Amino acid sequence: MAKNLVEQISVLENKAPEAIASKSTAFNPEDFDSYVMQTYGRFSLALERGQGCRVWDTQGKEYLDFVAGIATCTLGHAHPALIEAITSQIQTLHHVSNLYYIPVQGELAKWLVNHSCADKVFFCNSGAEANEGAIKLARKYAHTVLGITEPIILTAHASFHGRTLATITATGQPKYQKNFDPLVPGFHYVPYNDITAIESAITELDASEKRVTAILLEPLQGEGGVNPGDPAYFQKIRQLCDEQGILLILDEVQVGMGRTGKLWGYENLGIEPDIFTSAKGLGGGIPIGATLCKHHCDVFQPGDHASTFGGNPLVCAVALAVCQTIETENLLANAQARGEQLRTGLQAVAAKFPLQIANARGWGLINGLQLVEDSPITAIEIVKAAMAEGLLLVPAGPKVVRFVPPLIVSQAEIETALHKLEQAIASLA
Ligand SMILES: *Cc1c(COP(=O)(O)O)cnc(C)c1O
Repeated sequence: MAKNLVEQISVLENKAPEAIASKSTAFNPEDFDSYVMQTYGRFSLALERGQGCRVWDTQGKEYLDFVAGIATCTLGHAHPALIEAITSQIQTLHHVSNLYYIPVQGELAKWLVNHSCADKVFFCNSGAEANEGAIKLARKYAHTVLGITEPIILTAHASFHGRTLATITATGQPKYQKNFDPLVPGFHYVPYNDITAIESAITELDASEKRVTAILLEPLQGEGGVNPGDPAYFQKIRQLCDEQGILLILDEVQVGMGRTGKLWGYENLGIEPDIFTSAKGLGGGIPIGATLCKHHCDVFQPGDHASTFGGNPLVCAVALAVCQTIETENLLANAQARGEQLRTGLQAVAAKFPLQIANARGWGLINGLQLVEDSPITAIEIVKAAMAEGLLLVPAGPKVVRFVPPLIVSQAEIETALHKLEQAIASLA
């Protein structure tokens, strides 16, 4: 493994493995790998410092960060609002139990409720945990309100909902489930953006002892390849849910908090969910997640659900600063304008490399570059070549390169990124 890393760097930097190995004095990847479980296919890169949309590695090389911790660093790196919120809150009170009132948690919940279709919020620490909360909430609703003993939640193929047992089960991709069975019962999968498939699944399951009581979907599938939801599809689902008393749960973990140029992904679809979840961008890089719902499915009672760290004063002060900065710095407008610029640029790149790139798509500042079916190059090769040019990107599956820069990204930074991308693809083509 350790040898692989050195070989990877040498491929990246086009140098003999020995030259790289002797160079890394300050940081040693072999040391790292001998202590940390190898759950990630890591790039041979260790980042040390960040400012705005730029980061620097341990060798002092500068990169434009269009990964942003995978759609997480909403305000980029070292933003004054984050520094101020963390510094003042940690000097005052950073953690107390949810057995006591936490005023700043209440303020954050109020902001989220005032800026969404939700009425109530539960705070936790991650996207998977937020989805677990949503699944538990939907199941309790099925049992106590609908009187259903075997509730089924429909989810989509190519979805991604997290890495806990319930959320890998909800995730409609077998590669995340392999070797972790027995999985959690109560899930059923349908193709995304296909209304007929949902209608027949509901009819089929209702004919058995089981009943579909919730549908869990991403407004735009992120990990699954940057696939935007079709508004007509979601509007039909909303209608179906209303007619049959089914809950619509939206996973806003990747697309929420302004990423699409609107605060919530569902605003692009012309519908409102009953329950939705947030995490990634909510804390701008500080771990926080949230499960939000409307009054009619607010069925949790004391003792039903909890999280030790969930909504502690430190993370809530930071998330509140992120929310307020989205407003004061007009970041939704910036995400729309810069997203437009990026997509137009990506389409131009696609036109320049028709043998490799099929098209570009996305909403606001979540965009994907789709490779052609029989492309001679892969998404990971583009990501590595871009890294050599000083641009950080992340794949979304084998054939899509994803662009999720901080929402503060400037016009000049988008231009630079497009230039570096073009150089990278040219070096492979
Ligand atoms: C990242 C992601 C998750 C999981 O979030 P974690 O914080 O890693 O648990 C869930 N759903 C979607 C749509 C995501 O993009």
